[in-house]
Amino acid sequence: MKIKVDFDLCESNALCEAMAPEVFWLDDDDFLQMHTDETTDDNLDNVKRAVAACPRAAISLVED
Ligand code: SF4
Repeated sequence: MKIKVDFDLCESNALCEAMAPEVFWLDDDDFLQMHTDETTDDNLDNVKRAVAACPRAAISLVED
């Protein structure tokens, strides 16, 4: 699956980074960045936690 972020909705509160730092990180300007947009067996559980934690519903998982 692909990890999609609606950057227009994102408010840069870093909750997703707390849940899945292997995927999400905030840069020095507080813009959300992604190490990858692909789910793996290793990151999927954490990505799902990030989806659930995002108060802006900015993260979604879509089929390839
Ligand atoms: S949890 Fe949502 S609003 Fe917060 S930084 Fe991540 S994508 Fe943006």
